Amino acid sequence: MKVPFMNLKSFYEELKPEMDQAYCNVMSSGWYIQGQELAAFEREFADYSETDHCIGVANGLDALHLILRAYGIGAGDEVIVPSNTFIATWLAVSHAGATPVPVEPESRFYNIDPERIEAAVTPRTKAIIAVHLYGHPADMDPIMDIAKRHNLKVIEDAAQAHGARYKGRRVGCLSDAAGFSFYPGKNLGAFGDGGAVTTNDPILAEKVRELGNYGSRVKYHHDAVGFNSRLDELQAAFLRVKLKKMDAWNEQRNAVAQFYLQEFSQLKGIDLPAINTGDEHVWHLFVIRTKDRKLLMASLSACGVGTLVHYPIPSHLSGAYSDMGFQLGDFPICEAMAEEVLSIPIYPGIDQKKVVDAVKLSMIGV
Ligand SMILES: *Cc1c(COP(=O)(O)O)cnc(C)c1O
Repeated sequence: MKVPFMNLKSFYEELKPEMDQAYCNVMSSGWYIQGQELAAFEREFADYSETDHCIGVANGLDALHLILRAYGIGAGDEVIVPSNTFIATWLAVSHAGATPVPVEPESRFYNIDPERIEAAVTPRTKAIIAVHLYGHPADMDPIMDIAKRHNLKVIEDAAQAHGARYKGRRVGCLSDAAGFSFYPGKNLGAFGDGGAVTTNDPILAEKVRELGNYGSRVKYHHDAVGFNSRLDELQAAFLRVKLKKMDAWNEQRNAVAQFYLQEFSQLKGIDLPAINTGDEHVWHLFVIRTKDRKLLMASLSACGVGTLVHYPIPSHLSGAYSDMGFQLGDFPICEAMAEEVLSIPIYPGIDQKKVVDAVKLSMIGV
């Protein structure tokens, strides 16, 4: 591939001296779990996300799951989720023992449509999970209003949106609590799995910390049936190095996105991503829509440009949820997206001209 879909090695190459130093520091410290690097990263990521608290956990799925558990959401409860999301959003609800209730997205921004949420609220509804999909913030103000009216918690799934801003404020501080993922391919990625919860709620912060550490606040005192979900010292140390570059990398992603938007604006047959006025998109993914996806993918591949589909099978049609009785046609907006979306590679340092040339060449053929 001339332009692979992702190039994770480049982040190490760019920061090799600092990364190697971070590795040596942790390795020679003799302390590998729940130490100084984690404490420092939690402070720095809380500051970055403009929240009071950050708790490092093992991955993004756990971050969402632990928030739900900490709020006491479980069997018999319903949680509103977007129909259009990565399945982990739904899995977090299922693992807590609650039922995911899907709501369709707005076609323009791919995120949950606030105008459709209220119709899905029942007496069992306890929370809404808003996902900032592809790096674009969900429309939080109306979602928070609905939650207030119905006394619901709002949780952000910010796994794809580190650093994005909604009306000037960072994602992660816009709701009751947020879950982040540091999976290697995310905008802020570790060199392995990792995740975090951010919140301004001190009680929730303490509860999540307890649940992720065997239900223990004081060593060998276990007051809850907890889990083992922690962010280790090596990953925390690596993330601290990368966090310093976060804004610069997001700016580079934005510059590539603006170049694509400009260059593709005259192309017929593809829909380009839109940005809601007042928001800062961090372009985790650059997702276009086309009726001729198969052809375009094959043509781009022949030009040496890697693409992926996020996501080809909606959660409600996945085997994991076959027992819920959903049918094709239940969530047509999301289903149409699954048929037509295509992610064009975007990352700091990408050869953007090659991508543009390949797309233009391919669209002549399509
Ligand atoms: C990646 C992702 C998750 C899960 O994060 P992991 O760290 O892989 O567990 C959850 N939600 C969304 C929207 C994601 O993209």
